[in-house]
Amino acid sequence: MRCDEARRRLAANDRDTAASRHLETCAVCFAVLETSDPLAGALRAARPADAEAPERLAHAVLARWRPRRARAATALTAALAATALVIAAAVELLVGVEPARLGDLTGSLVVLLDGLAGILGALLEVRSALFGAPAVLTAFAAVTVAACALWLRLALRPPAWRWVR
Ligand SMILES: [Zn+2]
Repeated sequence: MRCDEARRRLAANDRDTAASRHLETCAVCFAVLETSDPLAGALRAARPADAEAPERLAHAVLARWRPRRARAATALTAALAATALVIAAAVELLVGVEPARLGDLTGSLVVLLDGLAGILGALLEVRSALFGAPAVLTAFAAVTVAACALWLRLALRPPAWRWVR
């Protein structure tokens, strides 16, 4: 459909579907019809002028903005919930409707616990080596205490980040 025909048909009947389809794809016709529409001009005139945001607004919003904690807590909660769901589904799949299968699952748990015992055995080896070198053990303890103190300080009094301009 040509532009002049579409405009003529829309002026006669604004529900003409073929002319409306042309209007959806033709920016020139849309602009012509919009400038001739008195309602569009009235709406443009009624729009309030743009106002600048107060200078202190950005500082007030940024001072109260702590999205990382909330996002981290939400992500941790979702991860824990997903893990619990996976474990529950795995137990349900392994055991099924027969409680007798729970014995098989217990055997799997024993294997898992054996693996954990191996890891704990390695940790015991490290502990024995550290007890053999008290200076290294003291240094590790000092680093641990410093990290805990820093963590506690950040948890109690979060730093007020400022934007560098
Ligand atoms: Zn057109």
